Amino acid sequence: MARHQLDLDRIAAGLPGYELGDELGRGGFGVVVAARHRLIDRPVAVKVLTTADLDPAGGSGGHGSGSGSGGHGSGGRDLRARFLDEARVLAGLDHPHVVRIYDYVETDGLCLLVMEQLTGGSLRGRALSGPGAASAIGIAAAVALDAAHGRGVLHRDIKPDNLLFTADGTPKVTDFGIAKIVEATAATTTGLVGTPRYMAPEQITGSPLSPATDLYALGVVLYELFAGRSPFPPELPVAALLHHHLSVRPLPMPEAPGPIAEIIIAALAKEAGWRPASGLDFAVRLAAATTAAYGPGWLAASGVPVRLPDEVLSAAGHQPGISSGPGAVHGGGRPAGVAGPPAPTVRAGRRRRPAGGGQPGGGRRRVVLAVGASLVVAGLAVALVLKTVVPGGGDQDNRQAAYAGRTVQFQGLADAAGIALGPDGALYVSDPGDGVGQGQIVRLSAAGQAGLIGGSGPRPTPTGNVPSPSPTPVLGDGGQSLRAELREPAGLAIGPDGAVYLAESDNGRVRRIARDGTITTVAGTSRSSSDGSVASTGAAPRAYLDDPTALTVDAKGIIYVTEGYRVRRIEGGQISTVAGSGTESGSAGDGGPAINATFYQPSGLAIAPNGVLYIADRSNDTVRRVDRSGTVSLVAGSPGRSGRTGDGRAASSALLNSPKGLALGADGSLYIADSGNNVVRRIDPHGIISTVAGSASYSSDDQEGALATQVSLSGPAGVVVDPSGALYVACGDGSIRRVGTDMFLTTVLRGPPDS
Ligand code: ADP
Ligand code: MG
Repeated sequence: MARHQLDLDRIAAGLPGYELGDELGRGGFGVVVAARHRLIDRPVAVKVLTTADLDPAGGSGGHGSGSGSGGHGSGGRDLRARFLDEARVLAGLDHPHVVRIYDYVETDGLCLLVMEQLTGGSLRGRALSGPGAASAIGIAAAVALDAAHGRGVLHRDIKPDNLLFTADGTPKVTDFGIAKIVEATAATTTGLVGTPRYMAPEQITGSPLSPATDLYALGVVLYELFAGRSPFPPELPVAALLHHHLSVRPLPMPEAPGPIAEIIIAALAKEAGWRPASGLDFAVRLAAATTAAYGPGWLAASGVPVRLPDEVLSAAGHQPGISSGPGAVHGGGRPAGVAGPPAPTVRAGRRRRPAGGGQPGGGRRRVVLAVGASLVVAGLAVALVLKTVVPGGGDQDNRQAAYAGRTVQFQGLADAAGIALGPDGALYVSDPGDGVGQGQIVRLSAAGQAGLIGGSGPRPTPTGNVPSPSPTPVLGDGGQSLRAELREPAGLAIGPDGAVYLAESDNGRVRRIARDGTITTVAGTSRSSSDGSVASTGAAPRAYLDDPTALTVDAKGIIYVTEGYRVRRIEGGQISTVAGSGTESGSAGDGGPAINATFYQPSGLAIAPNGVLYIADRSNDTVRRVDRSGTVSLVAGSPGRSGRTGDGRAASSALLNSPKGLALGADGSLYIADSGNNVVRRIDPHGIISTVAGSASYSSDDQEGALATQVSLSGPAGVVVDPSGALYVACGDGSIRRVGTDMFLTTVLRGPPDS
């Protein structure tokens, strides 16, 4: 590459105090050469932007195609400005895991950045010493990014090539060449900047970037380290790769221990808001997950020298020393990952003050609380790994565990009714349960981990008898969802706030499980304490709900729930009616206002982004829709005539049999759990209906991996579609099935063997 022909004499003239050495590497920006300070004998690395780079005509050509760094192709003036930006960013960051800058020189058309020399190579192709090493490197990078973010700087190009090591193996974040100040970036994002393989969705779409953008890239790096492969299928062309970043959930990563996989997958959430809250949060959670997976001591065993804030060390299972202030790097000068003398004894009076005890600034307080929670979680996860699960007996402790991505073990599903997909790619399933009060809510993480997040589930006694249920339900409102008794939870949905909303049919309530595991009642009370069974509007917590079954939440957080012969709407603590005239069942009213129409047993709901509400009416064997003006019309089925005809033709002429759950695909397709027919039907955007899963004839064979329409499903009740178009079906036998866009079926979760 002619433009990278180095004029060593000119560089030497610009840096008279240094003796120049060999070329260390090159990237999209320029060349990096080794040098040594003549007087203090310090080895340095000099990043050089040459005159050829400053010539606009030299522009964008000549990058190695593998680099993929976009955005370097602008004119020389811009390049110099970026180079200077990098120098300024580095000068402002004094962090043990960020490369240090010693000097910046502009001379004779040359820009020279003098940095600490990192002779340990980059993360790309580096052999890691053990399982903890990847975590230690990820944690170091996360705290380095946290420091940059704290100064308002985004890196924007985190990838293995930009994570370098000192001779002793200390990881350092380098190459802030396309870093940008957060505010400026949010306002003016131009062009594709970053490296496609590590690019967050918002970087691809040109949406405002945030610290979470760097955490996504770090998530991909960690995914690759742990799995030894990319989160998406290999060798995708760039356009397909970008599409995957935007809308396809990452492949599960069974290669990594569950808790670690979970936090890495969380960093890969499409929605920035679902990723770890900060670099520090990422570091703490990754440290806690690694401690859960490998036990305390993993950090020292990893052999990676790190210097970390106390909260991260605690989560990593180390006893922290005295912190010298909020967010302080461990002050002892001893790399925490290297075995050394125990931390100094801390007198009780000097322990961290309790939260709220006069620490200035709420942000700091939040960090302290988060650390407390993560320690509890780390301890719990360790307990789960070490303890043999005693049926029944062990459950009591487990129930104390908080939801928020952390779950406890469960004993399988008796039934599966509702199913929903979180923006983090996790599936949530409701199990009405086999006995009164034995309902459960289960979360299946994108990494393939399954756990209970609500309800107590089945409670076997030593005699094998099911204990008789208490006459009054143990609502557990305000407490942990794992302590609440759930009575036939059915429909569930994830709100824009990340909470799980569920229709608890046998309790006549809509419940909410917050991300911290707290359960509350959103609507519904007993008939006696209600404000009347037919009141159309009123305070949601005082309404009587007759067997609420299906539930959905729109993007604004408005809840729709079916109840009796109606569909209700809950917003701001108030309940109103959107469909169904009240106490009379029927199938009348198409073409008129939905609130005057009659329904028989509304049992499935889906709301489109444009506000159209779809309602499955199980006992009428129909699906209807309510448009934004409130007018109801028939979509599929014929009232009171069950059947399975009509595939390949207009849905309005098809027959259904006890339709239950509904879901909308990204393309506007409507999926119907046609439960009585044991199939899932789909109405495409042209209005044509077809069968996409379930076969006409029942067979009990294990048909894993077969075409979805050749597999028998048992009472499909809930359906949900992910952004890639894959369909998930919750079935009455407690199984969860997945139908890929290739139409092949796999089983995500098996039902109990005896069903
Ligand atoms: P670019 O913006 O061109 O990608 P980088 O800062 O990533 O520039 O540097 C390019 C290459 O130079 C790196 O991949 C690495 O091999 C080498 N390099 C960069 N900084 C140092 C350093 N401080 N010490 C040793 N080698 C370095
Ligand atoms: Mg680089």
